[in-house]
Amino acid sequence: MTKVNLSLPEVQIREIRINSITGFQGRAEELVNCSRCGLKDNTRSFTQCVGCATSKAACMTILVQDGAVISHGPVGCSSCYHEFAFTYRVNSPLRGVEKPTQRRIYSTNLTENDTVYGGNVKLAKAIREVYERTRPKVIFVLTTCAVGIIGDDVESVCDEAEEELGVPVAAVFCEGFRSTVWTTGFDAGYHGIARKVIKPPRKRREDMINVINFWGSDVFADWFAPFGAKPNYITPYSTVESLASSSEAAATVQACSTLGSYLGAVLEQEFGVPELPTAPPYGIVQTDRWFRALGRLLRKEEIAERVIGEKKAEYIPKIEALKARFKEIAAGRPLTAYVTGGAAHGHALLSVLGELGIQAAGAAIFHHDPLFDNGEPGNDQLAQRVRDYGDVPNFNVCNKQEFELVNVLNRLRPDLLLARHGGMTLWGAKLGIPSLLIGDEHYSMGYEGLIHYGERILETLENDEFVKNLASHAVNPYTKWWLKQAPNTFLAKKERSL
Ligand code: SF4
Repeated sequence: MTKVNLSLPEVQIREIRINSITGFQGRAEELVNCSRCGLKDNTRSFTQCVGCATSKAACMTILVQDGAVISHGPVGCSSCYHEFAFTYRVNSPLRGVEKPTQRRIYSTNLTENDTVYGGNVKLAKAIREVYERTRPKVIFVLTTCAVGIIGDDVESVCDEAEEELGVPVAAVFCEGFRSTVWTTGFDAGYHGIARKVIKPPRKRREDMINVINFWGSDVFADWFAPFGAKPNYITPYSTVESLASSSEAAATVQACSTLGSYLGAVLEQEFGVPELPTAPPYGIVQTDRWFRALGRLLRKEEIAERVIGEKKAEYIPKIEALKARFKEIAAGRPLTAYVTGGAAHGHALLSVLGELGIQAAGAAIFHHDPLFDNGEPGNDQLAQRVRDYGDVPNFNVCNKQEFELVNVLNRLRPDLLLARHGGMTLWGAKLGIPSLLIGDEHYSMGYEGLIHYGERILETLENDEFVKNLASHAVNPYTKWWLKQAPNTFLAKKERSL
């Protein structure tokens, strides 16, 4: 279990803290088994672009409703931040935000001169200017590689500004070169929030449960109502006030354990909020377990049993009907699907496939966390998938290397590609594979989620004319040579030394 230390300005990187890896090729069961006995990473001798931790820290801070974000670095490092302004606006109706406000995103725009003479003064001025212009309730300062290299004292500049302005000014150390696992950026954002925004609890509120998530639809309000509680969503669409009081919640649940692993541990260890010790509710069996674990944690077991009984009576017949339809489409052969996504959510989609009776042909999952910060094996969603629905062949921890994905898809030619990140379904479509992208991570959750997601799969399979046409005209940028190589050609057999 991670020992949280909020006295340090920087969070320990994931590959050191929880031994996360970015390279593996094999079977899911193999990965689950070696995760428990000293898993080692494999490096690649060639990589395309990889993600950057600043964008992960940005997505957890920009969507805080009354905050402002300053990227301290060259302006290019913040060039993807506008995506979160778009995300905020598009998803606000799902969260009942009636008047979505303009996101406040700035950059100190460091130049070559600044990297010689230092950027502290520029940052100090930028913080004051952002405060004057927007009057935010919190300012997050996100660091970049250039700032890490020249060694600006970002923490001191933020502390001085905080004292002067009277609002929290949180330094978030998320420069891209800090970690090979870009989800470290989530942890960095949460670390800054925990140090500067979350307040010690004044009381324990039995009517509030923290949900660490992205920007998915509001399914938890309905689920928590029988337990007499409401969700406190963290951090997209939260406010400084709701973040500050997250320490008073009765429990914390995760929509994706990869996302909230660190914050869940912080809330439990530093503020006494217990984290639910089981993986999020994807697939019938895991949804049963999740409601039971919630009932135990809240000491409301009988309510949990009632909710499970009522929901299953309503939804199981519909799930069975969907499964029958998939069987019909498959016409006697197994229907196959390939999944690509971030770690825990990709595993969740594999469970959804298992539940719907669709065979997992393989998966390209961006990284792997052998065990989360709470050290609780019950939160391991991949282990749960393998245990409940069987092994997954062709399991690739791919660090979002699209050249590997294209190679595998071209070999396997599954009936369907499932993704959660923009830009990934394009590769399936170009090969004529019906491809489904759903960004709402709550969409397939719970019993009802299986129906929602299953219906979209059905729609995708039944409407394949566009991808077939596209494939007949599309140009594949990869050479025939590459498509004949093994997908793990550039994945070294050598272990990365930490
Ligand atoms: S890797 Fe470094 S230089 Fe590149 S965007 Fe991220 S912070 Fe900027």
